[in-house]
Amino acid sequence: MSNANENNPPQEQLPFPVADYRFDQKNEMFKRIIWDETMRSLGQWPTEFDKKVGFRKIDYAFRNASWNLEWGAGYGNARSNFGLYSWDGVPKRVQPWVEAGGPVKESPKEMSRHVKRVAHYFGADLVGICKVHPNWVYSHEFNSMTREHSPFELPEDCHNAIVMAVEMDYETTRMSPNGMGGAATGLGYSDMVYVANLLAVFIRGLGYKALPSGNDTALSIPLAMAAGLGESSRAGFLITREFGPRVRLCKVFTDLPLEYDTYQPFGVEAFCTVCKKCAENCPSQSIPHGDKTREGHNISNQAGTLKWYSNLEKCYAFWSKNRMSCADCIRVCPFNKPKGMIHNVTRSMIRSENSILNRFFVWIDDIMRYDKPYPATRFWDSE
Ligand code: SF4
Ligand code: SF4
Repeated sequence: MSNANENNPPQEQLPFPVADYRFDQKNEMFKRIIWDETMRSLGQWPTEFDKKVGFRKIDYAFRNASWNLEWGAGYGNARSNFGLYSWDGVPKRVQPWVEAGGPVKESPKEMSRHVKRVAHYFGADLVGICKVHPNWVYSHEFNSMTREHSPFELPEDCHNAIVMAVEMDYETTRMSPNGMGGAATGLGYSDMVYVANLLAVFIRGLGYKALPSGNDTALSIPLAMAAGLGESSRAGFLITREFGPRVRLCKVFTDLPLEYDTYQPFGVEAFCTVCKKCAENCPSQSIPHGDKTREGHNISNQAGTLKWYSNLEKCYAFWSKNRMSCADCIRVCPFNKPKGMIHNVTRSMIRSENSILNRFFVWIDDIMRYDKPYPATRFWDSE
């Protein structure tokens, strides 16, 4: 538990509830399958193929290639400060430009504008900036490569975060849970590596520290909320105004002085209260159907604040049985729509927080069968 101070303001000054302790990354499900004997079997997926489209060798090849920048160069799911997510360094030929002339000095407002412009140019679909609350930073890191478990701190002066979302492909996400859905997720992770690395090198080029990060180092969802990118949901994922839950998140921590964005809720909580499509369609029944609570299911939840907690042990058990990751909760979420005038208007009306209107939108979503998966053959049959 941390005491209130400038970096850790009292709960009433925070835009949304923040747990009063830091999460130990060791307790994340992806780490538990490495060290937790009761979970270890879930991490051992047999290398078997199926005749079913979505589970054949070609589908695994497609899924695996989509992940390659994360699995082969970023390693953000394995540890922090490594590979393309390294916290320092620029190519030798760039070093003289970094050292010449001292740090670029502009107002935080101007610098934020430039950073966002460059992040969008490099491929970020959404960008926001926030100050990092200490309880969003992991208390300990679990290094999946070495199995080392050690206390963890961000460098003292790097408490500004540029948080970025990259859109996942709509069509292949609609094919979940199979190799197509896995590819949509994997490509999102590869995009994260690319975008965060390039933005970090840009900031180092201005003369400041820049620590790119994928799923390592700190919890991405509260950072994204504080940076104005979206709201948390019944399913636990972030819902953005522009792409719903169909995003992946990465961030760059820096000492560059920047202007902060603010939390921008837009009616998700009210909508989730009447909509339970993720809970109803979850193949492992991991997502709660009931009200918010302060109780987690197990050590993989950072419990204590009032919200909806998914049972991540059950979720991962389904992934293991299915031998592919799952994005069914993203697929069926009514906020998950492709861009388009009708969907944009619907999303803006959802923001009304009117429960009768919200029930109507859930009903329309059911009628239109937006939750229905596309067949995996649709990917291979298209040009
Ligand atoms: S990923 Fe799949 S199994 Fe896990 S919570 Fe979402 S729908 Fe359920
Ligand atoms: S499916 Fe419905 S309840 Fe679940 S996260 Fe999306 S809007 Fe909320």
